[in-house]
Amino acid sequence: MTEMLRLDAVTAGYAGIPAVRDIGLSVASGEIVAMLGPNGAGKTTTLRTAAGILTPMTGTVSAFGRPLRRRLEQNARAGLVLVPDTRGVFHSLTVRENLTLARRRNDNLDEVLDLFPALRELMGRRCGRLSGGEQQMLALAKALVHRPRVLLIDEMSMGLAPVAVQALLPSIRALADRFSVGVLLVEQHIDLALSIADRAVVLHHGRIVLTGPAAELRADRNAVAEAYFGAS
Ligand code: ATP
Repeated sequence: MTEMLRLDAVTAGYAGIPAVRDIGLSVASGEIVAMLGPNGAGKTTTLRTAAGILTPMTGTVSAFGRPLRRRLEQNARAGLVLVPDTRGVFHSLTVRENLTLARRRNDNLDEVLDLFPALRELMGRRCGRLSGGEQQMLALAKALVHRPRVLLIDEMSMGLAPVAVQALLPSIRALADRFSVGVLLVEQHIDLALSIADRAVVLHHGRIVLTGPAAELRADRNAVAEAYFGAS
């Protein structure tokens, strides 16, 4: 597996005050790395730094073997894509129109729709009338037609019914496998996240306090709970 994204000793924050410290992690092609931790632990800050939205105070972020570029569009063009939440979906347009807007020459829309058969059934529907889970599916599909190599996904399940999350997360596993996309996934549903991830890191108070193969962390819930709620 080729390394796609790498953070080395990254400290980052806001107005000169660190929110995360000494973060080291990597994501390979086809690999899902789950980022877990309680509210305020620094997951979003880490993701924004990985996306190039925040510049690290110290440490380095590299994508595809080279330092992140300064402009977001350059990183996006290279294949590092932050999946927008459903605000990126135009409510007054149909699913088909939303997807058409996202299309490029030689895109892979047909393959993407194979991953989300439910969307095929909804092509003529206005997005304002989709459920939250369906809108999130569409947001993922829109990101995928650009053939990303790394997807950064921040709490996609926020505000969704548990049943919708259960339907959505396996499609992230499928897209990683099918398109060899590396995924850094912030997710509140610990068990579901660990069930689709290859590896996981747990953040607490801005530091990585636990890391390991997802299967091992799933089998050792005590260690995860301790890291989560902070025995430190
Ligand atoms: P949540 O699940 O609540 O989003 P998180 O793990 O994603 O939590 P972050 O959002 O990264 O955590 O927040 C980490 C720390 O940085 C918190 O102390 C938070 O108050 C602070 N923080 C986040 N965004 C900003 C901001 N724009 N300006 C100043 N401080 C911020």
